Amino acid sequence: SFPPEVVPQAPEDPLFGLMRAYKADPSPNKVDLGIGAYRDDNAKPWVLPVVKKADEILRNDPEANHEYLPIAGLAALLGRAADLLLGPSSPAIAEKRVTSVQTISGTGAVHLGALFLARFYQIQGVNRTVYLSNPTWANHHQIFTNVGLPIATYPYFSKETRGLDFEGMKASLSAAPDGSIILLHACAHNPTGVDPTPEQWRDIAALMKAKKHFPFFDTAYQGFASGDLDRDAFALRLFAEEGFELVIAQSFAKNFGLYGERAGCFHYVASPSPTSAETTTRVASQLAILQRSEISNPPIYGARIASIVLNDPALFAEWQDNLRTMSGRIQDMRAKLRAGLEALGTPGRWNHITDQIGMFSFTGLSEAQVLKLRSDYHIYMTKNGRISMAGLNSKNVDYVASAVDKVVR
Ligand code: PMP
Repeated sequence: SFPPEVVPQAPEDPLFGLMRAYKADPSPNKVDLGIGAYRDDNAKPWVLPVVKKADEILRNDPEANHEYLPIAGLAALLGRAADLLLGPSSPAIAEKRVTSVQTISGTGAVHLGALFLARFYQIQGVNRTVYLSNPTWANHHQIFTNVGLPIATYPYFSKETRGLDFEGMKASLSAAPDGSIILLHACAHNPTGVDPTPEQWRDIAALMKAKKHFPFFDTAYQGFASGDLDRDAFALRLFAEEGFELVIAQSFAKNFGLYGERAGCFHYVASPSPTSAETTTRVASQLAILQRSEISNPPIYGARIASIVLNDPALFAEWQDNLRTMSGRIQDMRAKLRAGLEALGTPGRWNHITDQIGMFSFTGLSEAQVLKLRSDYHIYMTKNGRISMAGLNSKNVDYVASAVDKVVR
């Protein structure tokens, strides 16, 4: 059997532990600002109306069955998923420089990309270290470590401004050995809510090109961040236009509200060259082998829902409307929380609450303040002071503002 020195007890995942503590709290005032899942103004999960319609279509489809998907996943989804990222008139797509594989949501996409790079990013003399932003989605560390790739971090968040540490980031990417793998959040950076501006993205692209770095994009919030699918794809499209060879992990968990259905895709984009289509075909063949050995073929339900919406112009328009509903409510909560704190004269500056974007805000609250909010006010957030904006609503935002006011004084 496995003694503890061989299999030590692992700590519980902090986020899922927080969720358990919240559930067990009997207080009627409790507020869950932990996990990153959208909630409506009644703190309830929201099944997107367009997803309900797609589900209805699926249930009435006499051809629908429970057969296996192909190894690469649902063909009707893959092309539209790539269009969504790169734009329907993308030269990379037209030149057959893109190959896509359906994955177990965004996590599975990051994993498949990590596995592919661990196996094949072995070019003589080129660095294999993956640079992650500090901080980043905690799972990035585990995923890349699990496949045996060395990881390092680059500065990202400035504690002073609660915005981007752009100089620190650039200095670190410049100092990294040429050809390093750089993980970038395409939009709505988790956990900080801080994104580079378009100008800053241009500088990052220029620097990475000069250093021959390899971009690994993680996009889990397209459309959910600004409410505009194209705007949230700015960085991806910029890097693709700049001719980078790159990979993208795409999640449909947040923007379709399909969390537990595990719908997502991994995409490889080759640089433009006379051999790029042939390279892409070879990459696709290896991705298929990796996929086969890991999951054989991906799950079908969420992929069908997303595919129905993405392939129907009327449903697509309705989806965009649903995205504006979610992002609009979150932006509204950002404004209300900031206004609440400013009205109370809470010490400190609170502009970062509205400057940040997406599901999360890095509040700047200390661990001691976070723990006090939990014990005294039944408000749950991760220890780093990150709050999930979707946990706020018109009924609890004033309560949260006044509790924060009390703990920071
Ligand atoms: N990347 C980032 C940055 C995320 O925030 C998330 C969701 N928390 C994911 C990937 C993947 O999530 P999922 O596997 O549910 O699609």
